[in-house]
Amino acid sequence: MIITTATTTLNKFQRAWSIFHKLPACFSTSTGVVSLERIRNIGISAHIDSGKTTLTERILYYTGRIDEMHEVRGKDGVGAVMDSMELERQRGITIQSAATYTMWKDHNINIIDTPGHVDFTVEVERALRVLDGAVLVLCAVGGVQSQTLTVNRQMKRYNVPCLAFINKLDRMGANPSRVLHQMRSKLHHNAAFVQLPIGLESNTKGIIDLVGQKALYFEGDFGNIVREDEIPRDMSVEVEEQRMELIEHLSNADDIIGEMFLEEKTPTEAELHAGIRRACLKQTFTPVFVGTALKNKGVQSLMESVIRYLPNPGEVDNFALQLNKAGEEKKILLHSARDNSHTFVGLAFKLEAGRFGQLTYVRVYQGCLKKGEVIYNSRTGKKVKVSRLVQMHSNNMEEVSEVFAGDICALFGIDCASGDTFTTNAKLNISMESMFVPDPVISMAIKPKKSKDLDCFSKAVNRFTKEDPTYRVHWDNDNKETIASGMGELHLEICSGRMEREYGCEVAMGKPKVAFRETLASPVEFDFLHKKQSGGSGQYGRVTGIVEPLSHEENTKNIFKDETMGTNIPKQFIPAVEKGFKAICDKGMLAGQKVSGVKFRLKDGASHMVDSNEISFILAGQGAMKQAYEDGVWVILEPIMSVEITAPEEFQGVVTSHMNKRHGIITGTDANEGWFSLYCQVPLNDMFGYATELRSSTQGKGEFAMEYSCYAPAREEVMEDLITEFQGPKENVEPSKKRGRR
Ligand code: GDP
Repeated sequence: MIITTATTTLNKFQRAWSIFHKLPACFSTSTGVVSLERIRNIGISAHIDSGKTTLTERILYYTGRIDEMHEVRGKDGVGAVMDSMELERQRGITIQSAATYTMWKDHNINIIDTPGHVDFTVEVERALRVLDGAVLVLCAVGGVQSQTLTVNRQMKRYNVPCLAFINKLDRMGANPSRVLHQMRSKLHHNAAFVQLPIGLESNTKGIIDLVGQKALYFEGDFGNIVREDEIPRDMSVEVEEQRMELIEHLSNADDIIGEMFLEEKTPTEAELHAGIRRACLKQTFTPVFVGTALKNKGVQSLMESVIRYLPNPGEVDNFALQLNKAGEEKKILLHSARDNSHTFVGLAFKLEAGRFGQLTYVRVYQGCLKKGEVIYNSRTGKKVKVSRLVQMHSNNMEEVSEVFAGDICALFGIDCASGDTFTTNAKLNISMESMFVPDPVISMAIKPKKSKDLDCFSKAVNRFTKEDPTYRVHWDNDNKETIASGMGELHLEICSGRMEREYGCEVAMGKPKVAFRETLASPVEFDFLHKKQSGGSGQYGRVTGIVEPLSHEENTKNIFKDETMGTNIPKQFIPAVEKGFKAICDKGMLAGQKVSGVKFRLKDGASHMVDSNEISFILAGQGAMKQAYEDGVWVILEPIMSVEITAPEEFQGVVTSHMNKRHGIITGTDANEGWFSLYCQVPLNDMFGYATELRSSTQGKGEFAMEYSCYAPAREEVMEDLITEFQGPKENVEPSKKRGRR
């Protein structure tokens, strides 16, 4: 990366919280390309309130990127730098990730602050997708909490190596050993301390570095001066024991240390560092650090370890998908060299439409991108000129002239969707692996409270749906209402809150509704003729074929396949048949829910020289689906959530019985050190109000995390209720008949 001498400050409003661009000397003088070894792209993930915003701000402070520190929800009414949105500052939680970059000891560090709430997992997913390593922050009192379970699962999904930081040592009741045990028992990490606290709670004095065998004290007003000292005498036995424990855990994860352990050799400091790094990259070991961000202890040594143990972008294999002429996808390995020897490939992982216009965050995976170059969007084929290239520091930005593989940058005024791939060679036909974007599982009616706000409302909707692929909005023509869908109640609530604060548009919301789906149980043939030939211009279209169910794995998709031979249906009318099919898919005929998991195979048909036209075949496509409804067996699918609950063992009975009542299927249990974990698959429809129930039944000690898992057939009663609600009660008709059984 070239660091330009000019620092363009674009944000006129930034003085609001008095951040000044104080650049360390290396920023203003360096002109060479930073080598891969000197780059880290890290995420900070945690359960809400563990202190990741505070930690990020401390990092920015110690690295010279900000002049002052503010407490989140601070008395100064200013708020931490990373919390850039008004609403975030009000809630004191970080909802959207802000990409920021800083420098520590000649290393470029890109930090993505990730949101902690379960309802915003797509943001966490995105952050983890583009990062090479992560810091998992845990509270020394709260330990492993519900969201820790979720982010832990996500880190595993994306194979992200991580370090753990046990924060808030200064809090009453801080117990880092308990947290370490929870990491082992609840998160299943092979983890061990590499640091120990010197004193706890109000007596937190400093930290012991177990590898370097020294004490660290953080002195000066803001802990800026790190003083090394001897290990306090009264801790020497504990230090010896914990160092042994570290070596034991590491020897289970790393062959070289393992061999030394068997030979009873004590690894040197350098050997230990190398062993921790190897094991950390393979994700077989998690080193555990301790500190208190608020009281400025342990942050600098954590940064040191980020550089020491987490991978640089060249140590992570990144693949892209290349489409060949036959339409097959081939996985290709991208080159991480930081020069222009390979074509530029970058992934737009976050969009933000703020006061600067549209800002697109891009992770560069291959090659080099220069200001002024033309790039192509692989999905749309559109080309755009990169007129401005910037790097972000929370809300402030600095213009740069070029970026290389491994960098994270932001582009201005580029029209794209989150997840799009950009290249400098349109013929490459390459796209980064698609991100895991779950389908929305919950929806609510939404409308502006005042009709004069309609304009702002649609602007907000336009922006939010572009930024967040899990937030979708559509118009329900039958009930004449706008429906917003998302990943949870809070997700929808936050989006509405933002409409009010950022667009001045107050909105009214309906009751939450689970997103059910209708699907077919077995294949059904159709032969449908749409004909209207009496008076005026006629209509004529005939379609024959099969509608069949897709496999369980594909039950959230619909496929239309044209298998016609010849021209019984003229080719120009095939899209019309597909339109008809899709119209029914938008609103099924069993319970008015969306249709999914269905394949429409159009085999043949007939047309009329004069009377056939587009509308005839749209209606024929719809008619074919109606016939499939009449003749086939249809069922309702509902979203099933993976739920993970942890609580003290004495509550296992009551928690299990509650899950059974909620029709949960228990898939596993774990018990460790007085705590149990229960893993279940539960319909989302049965999960309303669970947070309150769990809290009251476990004296507030239970935690749960929930994540969308799959769609599966709903229970008979649920189906009957939905059908009755949609079709009205049908007297003297057996329930099964209502589902169009033959
Ligand atoms: P986030 O939700 O994980 O980003 O957490 P925040 O950084 O917003 O912190 C949540 C609360 O914990 C704030 O009130 C912080 O001031 C406080 N906090 C953060 N770090 C520490 C710490 O080390 N010790 C104590 N006692 N409080 C902390």
